[in-house]
Amino acid sequence: MTLTNKKAQNIKPAETLAVKARALELAKAGKHIIDLSTGEPDIETPEYIKDAARAAIAAGKTRYTAAAGIIELREAIALKLKTENGLDYKAADIIVSNGGKQALYTVFDVTLEPGDEVIIPAPYWVSYPAMIEMAGGTPVFLPGKLENGFKITPAQLTAALTPRTKFVLLNSPSNPTGLCYSEQEQRALGQAIANSKTNSSTLVLSDEIYERVVFNGFKFVSFEKACPEMAGRVVTINGFSKSFAMTGWRVGYAAGPKEIIAAMVRHQSQATSSINSISQWAALAALQGDQRFIAPMIENFKRRFDDAFEVLKEAPGITVDFNPQGAFYLFMSFRELKKMRPDHPALANSVAFTNCLLENYGVAAVMGVAFGDDTAFRISVAASDKAVAEGVRAIRKMAQEIRGMAL
Ligand code: PLP
Repeated sequence: MTLTNKKAQNIKPAETLAVKARALELAKAGKHIIDLSTGEPDIETPEYIKDAARAAIAAGKTRYTAAAGIIELREAIALKLKTENGLDYKAADIIVSNGGKQALYTVFDVTLEPGDEVIIPAPYWVSYPAMIEMAGGTPVFLPGKLENGFKITPAQLTAALTPRTKFVLLNSPSNPTGLCYSEQEQRALGQAIANSKTNSSTLVLSDEIYERVVFNGFKFVSFEKACPEMAGRVVTINGFSKSFAMTGWRVGYAAGPKEIIAAMVRHQSQATSSINSISQWAALAALQGDQRFIAPMIENFKRRFDDAFEVLKEAPGITVDFNPQGAFYLFMSFRELKKMRPDHPALANSVAFTNCLLENYGVAAVMGVAFGDDTAFRISVAASDKAVAEGVRAIRKMAQEIRGMAL
């Protein structure tokens, strides 16, 4: 007899967290570990945001809030969506959730019928397929071609739509590749959906959590703004974790069609009541305060990318397939190294590779299979300068040793 149901038994643990757990275990055992596995900015949450949280506690703002989130925060988000993104949402069309993660999961849980499909361009963020499966849907992977910078094309999308496609899930800037769709590219993808003869009701879920983390001259535009043809058929997800260095505060949000947001609020009201009140006041301050700390944070990520590229150029058989324009990850491939040493056990798959990197070289990275590519791995450059520099040197050393080493 089992104590848990089939659904629970089928839930896979988040691979990023599994890597982190092993890294912590090794560190506890006294090993020097460089953790490049998790995606969180290395800077502290700015003081003005912490001050707002302290003030909220002092003022007794410590009680249950509206399930959708405090009205002040939802109004500030509506204003942000209007002024920064050109999107027209009222506070009533917005829900504040426990990170962007809960917003995504709740969208799936209130919209998917068993067997409904969600198209996920690959490589993709680790949690998407698991969330969709937990909500009873079916993830359908659409691989972006390497020669197209991992981007999917409108023709690919048209061919992948079926009568069961509930959502196309777009994530630009992307975790793990850092690809960013331009305004025109988003418009073309949206038009492929809007003009589909196979399905006239497919929605888009646009995960814009890395909106602020862009460089190399990229100009971010929200999907719904880029593609007016899809107005009213888009749920936009965003949050405070990445842009405001607030990962632990757990504040995200969704804006979208009234019917979906209202169902999400009912779902949240029964499941969690709301997110915690203090974080909501902190997030309000984050939006209303001085955001000048963001630009130098992004510059730091960019500099780390550039420095990492220089080192990785000398790592035999390691290819950075794509020069990111956003997010803070480097998604690399060891497929060329595998061609050089096809029988090397560390190159059997991405789990073997990242295990070897962690156990023998002390670097925690995430295996590519978690993102849909078993000859790749991902590091985060949001860790400290020193960690990123040491980490990429260790990757180069591993590649050099594998390349030169007889089995
Ligand atoms: N979407 C993507 C692509 C992410 O990488 C993450 C976090 O890693 C999230 C959503 C969720 O972030 P949070 O729940 O911290 O807002």
